[in-house]
Amino acid sequence: MRIDIMTLFPDMCNTVISESIIGRAREAGKVEINTIDIRNYTKDKHRRVDDKPYGGGKGMVMQAQPVYDCFNALCDEIGEVPHLIYMTPQGKTLTQEKVKQLAEYKNIAILCGHYEGIDERVIEELQPEEISVGDYVLTGGELPALILADSISRMLPGVLAGEECFTEESHFNSLLEYPQYTHPSQWKNRSVPEVLLSGHHAKVDEWRREQSLKRTYERRADLLKNANLNEKDKMYIASLDKTQDNGD
Ligand code: SAM
Repeated sequence: MRIDIMTLFPDMCNTVISESIIGRAREAGKVEINTIDIRNYTKDKHRRVDDKPYGGGKGMVMQAQPVYDCFNALCDEIGEVPHLIYMTPQGKTLTQEKVKQLAEYKNIAILCGHYEGIDERVIEELQPEEISVGDYVLTGGELPALILADSISRMLPGVLAGEECFTEESHFNSLLEYPQYTHPSQWKNRSVPEVLLSGHHAKVDEWRREQSLKRTYERRADLLKNANLNEKDKMYIASLDKTQDNGD
């Protein structure tokens, strides 16, 4: 898969996409992630890409022309029109389900706004999918674009050690993950749960499933309605219900 991030601040993104798991995946050719400097497409002789908002008010607005030309140049380079996403606090909130869907595309382009945002006319013209990373406002779309690129990349074949690395994680099946432990087995008088030291795989699996259900029940009960639960899971959750009813 190829992901292109269109931004006024490519260096903000370049550092992140060159490090750790994503950096290694790029080097190994498991995912291609590029940054494109929108400023390279301005026709202004002073390389300006923003201007004051019509109607007055504070801040600056990114102009339509450099964004439009940047996207068209990208389409020409790829030889097709990538799925375009505009990171904006006004979009639909990103979920793991949406990440799963986006991981199916061959080419994705992510547009980052900055300042007060982008001239609405280029948004109308390009009709991007609008995605938010949450109900709060950041200074620019670079961090949201990196969140999106990271969450998509780690679902691509070969980026993580195995599929179970993400299929067992929080949100994949509308459940939160069980707690994790590593060496040493004793730390500050706290022990690793006995079952994890037992070497009994079936018991470990059962314990993890129950912990996952318990955490989701206690922290994000709203997720359970979409979770794929078997009869045993339902009985376990019912037992948690009872514990709570008894005020235990
Ligand atoms: N004036 C805009 C508004 O009130 O909707 C906010 C502009 S924000 C300061 C600048 C840019 O940051 C946005 O164009 C967008 O690309 C990005 N951004 C800020 N918060 C975001 C969020 N929660 N999710 C995705 N992108 C966000």
